[in-house]
Amino acid sequence: MKKILFVLVFGVVALGAVLVTNVVRLPAPPAAAGEAEAITIDAEQAASRLARSVRLATISYASGAPIDTVAFRAFHALVATEFPRLHATLQRELVGGLSLLYTWRGSDSSQAPVVLMGHMDVVPVPAANLAEWTHPPFGGVIADGYVWGRGTLDDKTTVLATLEAVERLIESGYVPPRTVYLMFGHDEENGGRFGARAIVDTLVARGVRPALVVDEGGFLASGVIPGVEGRAAIVGIAEKGYVSFRLTASANGGHSSMPPSRTAVGALSRAVMALEANPFPASIDGPTRGMLEAMAPSASFGQRVALANLWLTASVVERAMLGSPLGAALLRTTTAPTMLEAGVKDNVLPPVAEAIVNFRIRPGETHESVLARVREIVNDSLISVDYMDSVRVNPSPVSSVDSPAYALVASTIRSLVPAEQLPVLPYLVMGGTDAKYWGAHTDKAFRFLPVPLGDGDQARIHGVNERIRVEDYGVAVGFFTRLLRGIDQLPD
Ligand SMILES: [Zn+2]
Repeated sequence: MKKILFVLVFGVVALGAVLVTNVVRLPAPPAAAGEAEAITIDAEQAASRLARSVRLATISYASGAPIDTVAFRAFHALVATEFPRLHATLQRELVGGLSLLYTWRGSDSSQAPVVLMGHMDVVPVPAANLAEWTHPPFGGVIADGYVWGRGTLDDKTTVLATLEAVERLIESGYVPPRTVYLMFGHDEENGGRFGARAIVDTLVARGVRPALVVDEGGFLASGVIPGVEGRAAIVGIAEKGYVSFRLTASANGGHSSMPPSRTAVGALSRAVMALEANPFPASIDGPTRGMLEAMAPSASFGQRVALANLWLTASVVERAMLGSPLGAALLRTTTAPTMLEAGVKDNVLPPVAEAIVNFRIRPGETHESVLARVREIVNDSLISVDYMDSVRVNPSPVSSVDSPAYALVASTIRSLVPAEQLPVLPYLVMGGTDAKYWGAHTDKAFRFLPVPLGDGDQARIHGVNERIRVEDYGVAVGFFTRLLRGIDQLPD
């Protein structure tokens, strides 16, 4: 008995020692960056140019719908008139119809180039929401310290802030040490299949192998990451894949007074419920593991113990994360039934019932493996499962956080808030960005825009009252300016 007790006590003490050692071994929280070389930006002037771009309704309607080419051409013209030095210095090409590719020749063309991306198109505003907007979504109004309107978060801020940075740098006499490409897509909100894809294909065909690619996707999260008090910069290092399947149930139609034991609607309902009851496996690995490990030094002591000892605590942390839709989406391929259709009249049995289910695929799985699993779960002779359309996007490769490219992005972010100990966390982007087209060609694509987003702000993206603070817009311009000044630190 004594022996057992001794072993137990010894075990607990040893375990405690390991847990604490792992906490002590954590790197120190990031040091404040300290005062960097000041960059003066006239945020008011810059914001007025952003506001003018918001007034151009460069809308991506549903895939395949006609494009308002007039609005996009007006956007192209705005770039030329508002950024005259850039227009005179950079080479401009139209690719994929309406997308823009600018080439800023560097002094040493033998060095790997840098690619800065953004998209000009925005999502439409449903008429039903119009009354909820404080200022018209395409009014480009500046009021109460904000620029209001569609595109101010997604993604005209990226495009215009990049242009501002390049214009000011040219004005100051700066010549980039390596070539810089600016690529602005026109159909990101429809998957970028004509814009960004064509530009990436064009550049790859010219032999371009970037040292760094930066696109939208991450942001300055304030108070939205459990465990991190204050702000954290989250930098997208990978994005989930995307696929939708159509479940078609077929059964005998006819009079509803004598229904068969199995109907199309009943079979379809059972299948949808089975998919929800059997979610995809969750696990802490890949970019999400990297995110948790990077969070550890800045977390509270209790969380630090958990995050520094994931070898032991993974299942507890996993269970906690699965409690929220955001946490769950970081851990697994998600299952979302989005459309249902059956029947024309209450007393007629429909011969066919259909459901659309959308999946966001985590790294490590593919749209083929998701299809196979869905068929296995549904497993009903009345039901067929097929791709809804030609859109089938596999998860992107995971970019390396051990690269000088990531280090440059992280140090540039920290230099924006010199007084703060800002954690920079790699993360898995749950939506899609145009950066996915670089996936096959580089592991140095990062997704970030230094805009602070709090709890309520994320709903403004694609939602009502999208807006950006004038001051924050100035910070975004500063980010691209510092980033471009730092590209000499990248390896050849
Ligand atoms: Zn976007």
